[in-house]
Amino acid sequence: QNKRRPLVAGNWKMNGSVELAKQMIDTLDSSNIQNVDVLVCPPFPFLSEFNGFSGSVGAQNLSEFNAGAHTGEVSATMLKSLKCDFVLVGHSERRTDNGESDALVAKKVSVALEQGLTPILCVGEPEAVRESGEFFNHIQAQIDAVVDQIGIAKFDNIVVAYEPVWAIGTGKTASPLQAQQVHEFIRQYLAELDAEVAQGLRILYGGSVKAANANELFSQPDVDGGLIGGASLEPQEFLNICLAAK
Ligand code: PEP
Repeated sequence: QNKRRPLVAGNWKMNGSVELAKQMIDTLDSSNIQNVDVLVCPPFPFLSEFNGFSGSVGAQNLSEFNAGAHTGEVSATMLKSLKCDFVLVGHSERRTDNGESDALVAKKVSVALEQGLTPILCVGEPEAVRESGEFFNHIQAQIDAVVDQIGIAKFDNIVVAYEPVWAIGTGKTASPLQAQQVHEFIRQYLAELDAEVAQGLRILYGGSVKAANANELFSQPDVDGGLIGGASLEPQEFLNICLAAK
């Protein structure tokens, strides 16, 4: 079995509706997508609409706690009960808007794994860090926090998404070469800890992916699919991106 079977994940962010969920399911279920894992991550209130969907459903965030006095939070167990298989962790918007630190992100990855969810660990550098040339160090620190928390062996059960912050929602996509360089860096860095785990790790690219640029990005040797924001809100466009991944 191909551990690096391409995965295309749609992140709706705080967008969408019950109606969009229905349209998305209709479009994706009626097409014949083969050899690609398809995932939709809508806001919490729409997760249950995806019961019976042929692909997977995931959440955009989870609490680091399992239960209790944490108003407004949602636990990993609750997500499991809604048939989620995946959960985004450490999306740059949560790091920025909600002050999620590398340490908190690492804790959330650990909690997701304990409950049998596959965390999609999002990493990536802001524009100023890209310009300073220090982006490998920035990404390495984000990954180190998770390695310290869970150990390298558990990377077998996670997915990493490289999302340069300057490319998210800006229409400024990383070039296929820029993406490949970082994906290769991540894989080689983890290979120093465990070559087999690193070889089997799925690393997704995210940042202004559209049907028009997906194929070139997905054909890079270390790019194993994508995390799609804006373009995942249009069923036909998202389907075309999924089809570009095989
Ligand atoms: C994202 O939200 O993870 C993302 C990559 O957004 P966009 O595709 O809109 O840049």
